[in-house]
Amino acid sequence: MNYISTRNNQKNFTFKDVFLKGLADDGGLFVPKSIKQFQKEELENFKNLSYNDLAAEIIYPFIGDFMSKDDLISLISKSYSNFRSNDVVKISHLGNLKVLELFHGPTLAFKDIAMQLIGNFYQYHLSRDQKKINIIVATSGDTGAAAIDALKGKSNLNVFVLHPNNKISPVQRRLMTIHEESNVFNIAVEGNFDDCQNLVKAMFSDEKFSKSINMSGVNSINWARIIAQSVYYFYAYFKVGNGQPLSFSVPTGNFGDIYAGYLAKKLGLPIDKLIVATNKNDILHRAISGGDYSQKKVEETNTPSMDIQIASNFERLLYDVKGCNSEVTKNVMAQIKNNTYKIDKSDLDKIKKNFVSEMLDENETIKMIKTIKDEHQMVVDPHTAVGIGAVRKLGLEKNCVVLSTAHPCKFPKAIEDAISKTENLPESLKYVNDRKEKFELLSNDIEKVKKYVMNSI
Ligand SMILES: *Cc1c(COP(=O)(O)O)cnc(C)c1O
Repeated sequence: MNYISTRNNQKNFTFKDVFLKGLADDGGLFVPKSIKQFQKEELENFKNLSYNDLAAEIIYPFIGDFMSKDDLISLISKSYSNFRSNDVVKISHLGNLKVLELFHGPTLAFKDIAMQLIGNFYQYHLSRDQKKINIIVATSGDTGAAAIDALKGKSNLNVFVLHPNNKISPVQRRLMTIHEESNVFNIAVEGNFDDCQNLVKAMFSDEKFSKSINMSGVNSINWARIIAQSVYYFYAYFKVGNGQPLSFSVPTGNFGDIYAGYLAKKLGLPIDKLIVATNKNDILHRAISGGDYSQKKVEETNTPSMDIQIASNFERLLYDVKGCNSEVTKNVMAQIKNNTYKIDKSDLDKIKKNFVSEMLDENETIKMIKTIKDEHQMVVDPHTAVGIGAVRKLGLEKNCVVLSTAHPCKFPKAIEDAISKTENLPESLKYVNDRKEKFELLSNDIEKVKKYVMNSI
């Protein structure tokens, strides 16, 4: 499969380029040049596959020039062997509503599903090309832990994780900072997630720097993550779709996980609406409900993994909406950068064919956790509560699946506020509370961060 950048669709890339680079040199995001839908008969054949076998069928067409299908099958099985659920994910029921639990991996959030696989993709690549890689990643709390777990101790690579200092939960931080492997580096940035993401983007676009350290990235803009995440939309459809199109509600920050659902729809999966559920950092809700894509200041909330105002993956949707015209997309991205972009009516109508949106503020989120506990004796994490709350506000419970993105024990404060009770870590992760933490506190200064990286490798 050939890939292009959303800002220049004249130059072709292979999956390996796309995977290792993460972001295109022109600042655009990689997307396939064209996407082939699965035929009805193919979908029919997927119906009874295990999660791992389904993953191989969905992912292989995107990466065929990188590895053989047999290699992919064995990497998938290795990646998911340590998940706490036999079939990687689980589906539970809240009355009519279905909840797709994606948090049974080693760091208790959906990020593990793509990241464990990516870790093994790196190892596969490095077993053939020994040139040392430095992976630099920004995190709003969960990506970093998932990346570290997937990459710690692997030879010929280092992983640097930038998190916003004091803006993630202590459990989220501990899952990143307690590791002793010498290839793991944590940086606490005095700033918010968007600052961390901007630092990583700036390092990427500094070609001299990024080439000199052979830099690579695993943020949600990495196409490999998107394809790995598409798999669970298919899985849910085959488990609970009953032949009817399903809607999916997705607690959204960087527009990555929900874009994976959009990709599943483009691949031919019968999806009705994709519900964008946000907290009060609601740029995506404002955009999808009324075309307002103006960037406001990031506010801290009890759903920190969505405290984002630059939804990077939205560029991929805009590229589609603009008829795959990379010149126009580049223009739009420049307007977004100047904070002067508004989505026009005809583009918005196109977006609304596939997406609806809703927002929950902090009180509503806490109340939703309590309501779900009272009604169904189930404790959900605050991000999942936002996903459920959005569906209920929109009245779309019928034929709808909510993505449950994290284990409630990752956000003890919100759970305590809602139901006056704490959620414990699963037994296998209790050690996280006892180990010594290690991280470097740096100001939001690109030169300081670069220097730290250079001195560490
Ligand atoms: C990352 C994350 C999200 C948001 O996912 P995006 O792909 O950034 O939209 C939601 N919930 C949790 C728990 C997360 O870790």
